[in-house]
Parts: sequence; C-alpha cells; structure tokens
Amino acid sequence: MSEALAWIDAQQSSLQQRLMQWSRINSGSHNLDGLANMHQTLADAYAEVSDSVESITADSYQIVRADGVVEEKQYGRMLHCLKRPEAKRRILLVGHMDTVFPADSAFQQPAQIDDNTIHGPGVADMKGGLLCMLTALKAYEQFTSDPQLGWEVLINADEELGSHGSRATIAKLATHSEIGLVYEPALADGTMVSSRKGSGNFSLVVHGKAAHAGREFNLGRNAIAQLALAMQALHGLNEKRDSIICNLGTITGGTVVNSVADLAICHFNVRTETSEDETWIQNQLKEIIVNINAEDGYSAELHGGLTRPPKDFSPEIKALFTLLSECSEQLGFEIKHQATGGCCDGNNLAAAGLPNIDTLGVRGGAIHTEDEFMLLDSLTERSKLSYLLLEKLNQMDSFEHYMRSQS
Ligand SMILES: [Zn+2]
Repeated sequence: MSEALAWIDAQQSSLQQRLMQWSRINSGSHNLDGLANMHQTLADAYAEVSDSVESITADSYQIVRADGVVEEKQYGRMLHCLKRPEAKRRILLVGHMDTVFPADSAFQQPAQIDDNTIHGPGVADMKGGLLCMLTALKAYEQFTSDPQLGWEVLINADEELGSHGSRATIAKLATHSEIGLVYEPALADGTMVSSRKGSGNFSLVVHGKAAHAGREFNLGRNAIAQLALAMQALHGLNEKRDSIICNLGTITGGTVVNSVADLAICHFNVRTETSEDETWIQNQLKEIIVNINAEDGYSAELHGGLTRPPKDFSPEIKALFTLLSECSEQLGFEIKHQATGGCCDGNNLAAAGLPNIDTLGVRGGAIHTEDEFMLLDSLTERSKLSYLLLEKLNQMDSFEHYMRSQS
C-alpha cells in the first residue's frame, strides 16, 4: 500500500503538466468541437487503464429560443470506460468534461500563480478531479494484488447544463453498481459535500397579441405585462416556503416601443430540499399557468422541469463517509463535510438509488468564475484518498454487509 502511495506522490509534476494541458482545451458545454477534442484526450488517457473505452451519444434536448420557438440541441458525446465487466462487485465513477467557459470566453489559459496554486478554466471543476480519478484507478490496477472490483467510468459533456443529455445513461449505469464516486471539487480547505438541494430549469413563454401602441392599444394584449405579473408570483414563492428557491434568471420579450408585445419569455431556476417541495412547486407552477391562460387573449406554456432530485445525507452515504474518514486518517487529515444548495450528478446517482460521495476531486474554489483556482498539492492528496477508498472497497465482501455491520 505504501508503495502505491509513493507512486502517486511521484506523479505530482506530470499531473500538474497534464492538468495545464487539459485546461487549455476549451470544453465549454456548447463547444462541440472542443468537447470532441477533450473526449479524445480523455479516451487516450483512460485507455491506459481500461479494458474497453467507448463513446456514447447523448440524448438531444430542447431549448426555448428568444423568438419562443422550441429548438432541438445536441450535447457532446460521453466517454464510457469499463474494467472487469464480469466482476460481481461493481462501482461507478462519474465525472464531466465540460466547463462553463464558452469558446469565446476571455478565460482560456491556465497559469501558475504561486507554488501551490494554479488558476485556469476547469482546473478545479473538474479536470483536476478527472486526473485524481484516473490516478487512483491506475494505482489500484498496478498495486492491488487481488483486484476484485469491476469499475465503470462515465464522463459526460453536459453536466454544467444540468445533465439532460446524459441523465438516462447515468440512471442506467447506476443500476449496475453498489457505490458511486463523483469527482466534483472539494472546497479549498478540503470540506466535502454531504447533501444537496434538488434543481430544475424552466422557461415560461407568454403569448399576447400585437397591436399598434397608439392606434389600437386596447386591441393588444401585452405579453410583457402579463409575464411581469407571473414573475411576481414566481418570485413570491420564495416567501411562501422556506425550503425552496425560485430564481428568475433571464427575460426577453417585445420588439419595438410602439408595438404591444405579443411574446415574452422568462427562464428561471428552482431549488428544492425534499420530494414534498417538488410536488408543492409543481402545483404552484401549474396554478400560475392556469391563471395566465384564464386571462382573455393570453396563453402561456411552461417548458423544462425538475431534473435533479434532492440528495439526502442517507445512512448509506454516512457509512461511505465513515470509510473515507478512515482513509483520510491514514493520510493524516480529517474529512469535513457540509450541505450545499448546488447540484451535480451525485443527485442523479442518488435518485437512481446509488449511494455516492460526489466531491472526491481536487481542492479549489471560485468555480464558474474567471478566478477559478485549484491547489496543486491536492492532486496527489485526493488521488491517494480515492485509491485508499478503492482498496477498502476491494477488501469488503459487499458494501451492503458493511452497512449492516455499521448499524
Ligand atoms: Zn462540476
């Protein structure tokens, strides 16, 4: 075991170099060429340790354009790697190759800013994590004398958009495994995530009737005004229930000032803590739509939905953290965790019944901003943490037995 840990330590400078290379590849969620490049880079890297590597087409998704038309969009392809598919004990490791920085973003180049910090797109979220996953798997395959785990890696290309195109694949793969490991970044101080809110994106499209603002104002039906009322109601939901968040994100509508606007659109995001919240919010949204449709000359449609159910700090996840804490003790540090309002594929895995820890990636911060950074010493630290966890899982008869022995 100490041999494996020493081997991981010796990877520090090559990991650093590789992370800089990966960060230079723009893989914004909408940049399909950049994602194809990142996909190939990852396929080559993971082929070194997998029995098979394949590319999976993501489902397409619908967006509501500014003119109200619903358009079908494509996501980047997913990478799927398999090892020991015949093994009885199976785990699923999940990551994403996309970032929030588009092809035309000003933020393209990584840079080292001090001895232990690099700054760059995706260095924390989550190209650093993809390297930790790979390094832990390599150490496991190289140094474990009797490897029992069949593992599967899924790296999607639409996580930052909500994983709509990869959701079905994630749910399907989750049924093959006992445990899920996801490589989102930990906080800069190493704190990990215990539970997460659920989330969903919606587009509310309101149709009115166009008319000349001066001559026939009374014949028009102003979609902007109607949407404004609906948005008041949506924002008001935050007051009605503490455990939900409804955030109005963007609005569009109208064409010129002397015409009554016949179209207005609001895109918004909802966060929930429980399945009761999900039912509650869905009923509230339905009511808002019914109210608009009841107004003379107006109609409304709601697109989107709640796609990431809340992730509880379940007894299974607590048990996984107990195991992980034993690993971190061996490495001389303590694991802390806390709840968050953010979502990730850990939500989707949990919803599919797979207990998982979802912040096994590097330590870093300011993610989703041009100040994104990661701490270099966490590359080997978190690789070793994952490796030790794989070792522990390898020694168990089954995770279920372990759970029973814990209770
Ligand atoms: Zn992420």
